[in-house]
Order: sequence, then structure tokens, then C-alpha cells
Amino acid sequence: MRNNDCIFCKIIAGEIPSCTIYEDGAFKVILDVNPASKGHALILPKEHCADIYEIDEETAANVMKLAKKLTHYMTEQLRCDGFNLLQNNHEVAGQTVYHFHMHLIPRYHGARNNDILRWSHETFSAGEMDEICNKLKFPEQFQAD
Ligand code: 5GP
Ligand code: ZN
Repeated sequence: MRNNDCIFCKIIAGEIPSCTIYEDGAFKVILDVNPASKGHALILPKEHCADIYEIDEETAANVMKLAKKLTHYMTEQLRCDGFNLLQNNHEVAGQTVYHFHMHLIPRYHGARNNDILRWSHETFSAGEMDEICNKLKFPEQFQAD
């Protein structure tokens, strides 16, 4: 389903132009208009969903399969030295367009902005780490087969 207020839905429909590098029935992959590096691209599922909380599991799995294929292809074409896959959810995490998308960001030795995507670190005591770990232990009954 499309969301009429969504810029990526308009791009998917071809109402807003984009540099498209891949398209199939389920996905469109476009170059980011404001790229972090040469070749920075976005995987867009054609079905509108806002984020990781809304996307269905099958589409999410297929996003990763496509990311894997494109990472190999783009690395070969661009001769880049590494790659980031990045996916932001909610404003606090840096999401600015509320249609799920996976960033594909080629990285190059010597690029002037190679410190993007690094973060400063928080410190937690051993007790706090235990508490966090216990809270996050995933229930066995929900684990994948
Ligand atoms: P987010 O911050 O939500 O993870 O990423 C949104 C990305 O979409 C940004 O990197 C931004 O540059 C890109 N973007 C926003 N509007 C457009 C657009 O109209 N066309 C294209 N190609 N990219 C866009
Ligand atoms: Zn949309």
C-alpha cells in the first residue's frame, strides 16, 4: 500500500525522479540525493511501511538478501574498500524519511569524511551490564528454528 504523503512512495511510483540502479517487483534501489559517499544508495521496499517495527519479516529478510547482492556488485563496480549497511528507526535514531529504507554506503580509504558513522562510547558498571544482559536475554520460545 502506498502512502500519499510519502516522498519515497512518490519516487517508487515515478512521480519524483530518482537515479535508479535496481528495480524488481518488490524493491527499488536509488542513489541517495545527499550522499555520504560516492555510490550511497537506498533500498526501498515498494510496499509502504514506516520502519523496522512495521516491516514484515519476509520483506525484511529479502532486504538483506538484496543488500548482500548489491554490496558485491557495487564493490566491484566502484572499487570501494568497505561498506556500511545502515537503517535508522524513529527521529531519535536519525530517521528523516518514514518509509523503511536500508542505506548502502560504500567506503573508501582516504575519504575526507571517514569519521562518519563513528560514535562516542557510554560506560556501564559490571553490575549494570549484568542487569542489561538479563533484561535482554531473548526468550527461547521466540528464537528462530
Ligand atoms: P534517514 O535519515 O531517514 O535514514 O535517510 C533518509 C535519506 O533519504 C537521507 O540520506 C536523504 O539524503 C535521502 N533523501 C531524502 N529525500 C530524498 C529524495 O527526494 N531523493 C533521494 N534520492 N534521496 C532522498
Ligand atoms: Zn512510502
